[in-house]
Amino acid sequence: MGLTFEISATSGSGGRRGALHLPHGTVETPVFMPVGTAATVKTVQQETLEHIGRDAAGAQIILANTYHLYLRPGHDLIRRMGGVHRFMSWPRPMLTDSGGFQVFSLSELRKVTDDGVEFRSHLDGSKHFFSPEHSIEVQIALGADILMVFDECVETPATWERTKQSMGLTHEWAARSKAYFEAHKHEVPWAAEFPAKHQSLFGIVQGGMFADLRRESAERLVEMDFPGYAIGGLAVGEPREVTREMIARTLEVLPPDKPRYVMGVGYPDEIEEYARMGVDMMDCVLPTRAARHGLLFRAPEPGEAETAVRMNIKRVEYAEDQRPIDPTCTCLVCGRYTRAYLRHLFVAKEPLGATLNSIHNLSFYLDTMARVRRNLESRSTSA
Ligand SMILES: [Zn+2]
Repeated sequence: MGLTFEISATSGSGGRRGALHLPHGTVETPVFMPVGTAATVKTVQQETLEHIGRDAAGAQIILANTYHLYLRPGHDLIRRMGGVHRFMSWPRPMLTDSGGFQVFSLSELRKVTDDGVEFRSHLDGSKHFFSPEHSIEVQIALGADILMVFDECVETPATWERTKQSMGLTHEWAARSKAYFEAHKHEVPWAAEFPAKHQSLFGIVQGGMFADLRRESAERLVEMDFPGYAIGGLAVGEPREVTREMIARTLEVLPPDKPRYVMGVGYPDEIEEYARMGVDMMDCVLPTRAARHGLLFRAPEPGEAETAVRMNIKRVEYAEDQRPIDPTCTCLVCGRYTRAYLRHLFVAKEPLGATLNSIHNLSFYLDTMARVRRNLESRSTSA
């Protein structure tokens, strides 16, 4: 058994309240997944991650990046350490990406052939090759609950012809990823611990900013029959209306009983909007990356129109501000520290500032999704 997905309620706009049962636990959906790039959600320790957010529920599932862990410390080392769960002491569900996005965005001197991608490490310039089979081999060694097919990420903007050609390659690679996974899934490091369970491989819909290609890509992947589907290649600089349109056109084609994951989005109001449209899973580096740059999110005060107000904590107006970041937030940072103190930490470049800012922003994201889940429960008609 890889996963089971139960939908308890759906709303008129397509939003779904569900539960995703994975080898390392159950994830209540829709869910936001913090990104733990190098087997760490930057600056936040695991015991804190387990308790952030409303009711101290913590992060239900986190991501790790295959490209980074493959380069350092290496997937074979992590396999010998028992897999990434045991290596980083994270007992709850995890998801790994395929490495494709980082290969295309971070590495140098890429050479793409039908077989895979040759690239040089952004760390030391050493030469490497990722094929669909190798990406899955690495992800099985890491041992996340969910892994992703290896896909080509087309540059933006790209023409319809270039996007279609890239999408075709992505479909071939998806089929090869699946074939390798089915033959090797018993090799996961925790096979002996959970003998009746295995990882689940998700397909990734591509197709750039073209609705017809998005539809075609979704149809092809559904034919291949994955236990879940991701929508990739979005939030790469296009206007938000285009992102929304591509998601909507893709959701129409995906089977309603399978989990749907939009990769790499977004601002708090975006994740709320996409969850209401029927997206079950999302991830983004934004809450932690923004936190390290002093950008914090908070609920609006009376008279403010935004649903998530952006605050730049380094501004001088906060130098003697005795309020918490967000008086309505129940996170441990807002319960204890003032804006004045957080501004001081940021200005003085104290590492604690990045930690506290990250804890608040992650709590804000998790609380946003908890609120969406409650609304779906109260407003929906039972499925
Ligand atoms: Zn807070």
